[in-house]
Amino acid sequence: MSKNIKKKWNTDNSYLELPSKLYTKQLPEKCFNPKLLYYNYDLAKRIGCESLSKSEILDIFSGNKLSKSHTSISQAYAGHQFGHFNILGDGRAVLLCEQIAPDNIRYDIQLKGSGQTPYSRRGDGKATITSVLREYLMSEAMFYLNIPTTRSLAVIESSEKIFREKVFNRGILTRVSLSHIRFGTFEFVRKFCTKDEMEIFIKYVINRHFPQISNSCTPVLNFFELVMQKQVDLIVDWMRVGFIHGVMNTDNMSIPGETIDYGPCAFMNIYNPDTAFSSIDVNRRYSFGNQPKITFWNLNILANTLIPLISNNEENSKKIIRERMDKFPTIFKNSWYNMMFKKLGIISSDNEDKILVKSLLRIMEKYKLDYNNTFAALTMDNSSVDFFLKINEFKNWKERWKNRLNNSSKSLKSMKKQNPIIIPRNHLVEEALENTINGDFTNYNNLLNLISKPYDYNKSDCNLQTTPKGFDDSYRTFCGT
Ligand code: AMP
Ligand code: MG
Repeated sequence: MSKNIKKKWNTDNSYLELPSKLYTKQLPEKCFNPKLLYYNYDLAKRIGCESLSKSEILDIFSGNKLSKSHTSISQAYAGHQFGHFNILGDGRAVLLCEQIAPDNIRYDIQLKGSGQTPYSRRGDGKATITSVLREYLMSEAMFYLNIPTTRSLAVIESSEKIFREKVFNRGILTRVSLSHIRFGTFEFVRKFCTKDEMEIFIKYVINRHFPQISNSCTPVLNFFELVMQKQVDLIVDWMRVGFIHGVMNTDNMSIPGETIDYGPCAFMNIYNPDTAFSSIDVNRRYSFGNQPKITFWNLNILANTLIPLISNNEENSKKIIRERMDKFPTIFKNSWYNMMFKKLGIISSDNEDKILVKSLLRIMEKYKLDYNNTFAALTMDNSSVDFFLKINEFKNWKERWKNRLNNSSKSLKSMKKQNPIIIPRNHLVEEALENTINGDFTNYNNLLNLISKPYDYNKSDCNLQTTPKGFDDSYRTFCGT
């Protein structure tokens, strides 16, 4: 390793120490005429990659010329997709390395859309530039909304053509995450590894993500409890801002609790728990309101993979894990109500407040109110944006709520951190992406800028966002392969 590279990277490849059936060494495919569209300097600085030159950025993140410290592997995993078990793996991604950031946090650096791998099945291993730009935008939006998420370091466009429902240019995204270990990785380990290998794997995951429990007498159980808590926190955060992930298959659920896999995700505008935009989610399995139930379902799958590791007695292990699962509904509900109370500025809550939350949601659903705008309007507490006051039921509710708040300045402060005034509205995202296809990045850049300050209530032109009437009725999102 040259002195120069050492300074630019601080890498490790700890995944290679795991049983070899968990990955395959795989180089990225050649990328023709790579062009760097975006480089996320904020993220580069955070992870300690800010000193790469323009040509190094282009070489490495196109996959054309890796650094000597990159080992390039595709990871094996399985997963339940729409309820059905499948053997999967990185079919279009390679993990270049783990980068140790200046603050000592370990990040995976992965190229997505890097070409075929042994896990590609029938796919071409590639991604369209539009899906890459969509992921860059949506993951940045989630980051600025203060929601745990993978982020994107670089967007590379190639002149190579990709055939989907239309012809697109090829894109490669550099994804940065705490790790790409998924619920589905545990499913793979359970199915294909020996007990010794399973133990090596869980020890690795605990050391990497939950070192605080590595000396516990019941590390596997504690691991499960921590993963459950992280999932609850994450999904409650999604519910806070109206985010619909769209494809909550177990292979897309991250063990460190980040939002990952921005395929068909979207934001709900009009409040309706049944909202689902994904073109393949015909039964609305992954609708906005189903997300808590699916989290429970996914955690059950993860729990099953841990049974051999919890105790030597299978029945005993099942009983222990069932007791933990039984706590989920209460843990989730409490967490969700606490989030809702914060959205309404309620500092010390009592049981009556639950009724206040429920009745607001009922009114929002009945009158088809915009989810984020309703909370933003309450936060602004400005009669000029209180168009809802035309609705008598809402007016009465607001009076009850106002009477309930005892310290309004403290409440308002809390609300401003919970209720975004800006989200990447579906019509804006689609319009911006459509324009990029024609080479016009003005809207896309404006949107990137807009979503970087989602809680900025201080601007003089602070207005509620509007959605064209009926836009969402026919809006469909795609897995973006
Ligand atoms: P996703 O829907 O993005 O979570 O992908 C599900 C599985 O399909 C993962 O194993 C992916 O690696 C794989 N996959 C998605 N798109 C492609 C593609 N174009 N070529 C090969 N594999 C793919
Ligand atoms: Mg996936």
